[in-house]
Amino acid sequence: MIRFFIIAGLAYLCYRVLKPIAGQHGFGKVSSSERGTGKIDDVMIKDPYCEAYFPKRNGVHYRHNGEDLYFCSEKCRAGFIERKKQS
Ligand SMILES: [Zn+2]
Repeated sequence: MIRFFIIAGLAYLCYRVLKPIAGQHGFGKVSSSERGTGKIDDVMIKDPYCEAYFPKRNGVHYRHNGEDLYFCSEKCRAGFIERKKQS
């Protein structure tokens, strides 16, 4: 019975030592997933023309060969269309 208490005590100590580490990992996961859901509306995407990153919601939409493309400005969209015409 004494051995049981020693094992229980050791297990409790391990739990106390490991819990903050596990807790930190858990918190990391939670905050990153929260950031992920918050980003759905405000995701950063790359302008295929000037290769700058900008929030998708500010993008200029253009549908090209059934593909949704977003540009940082109408100027870039016009430039992209122009380049596609040439090639
Ligand atoms: Zn651009």
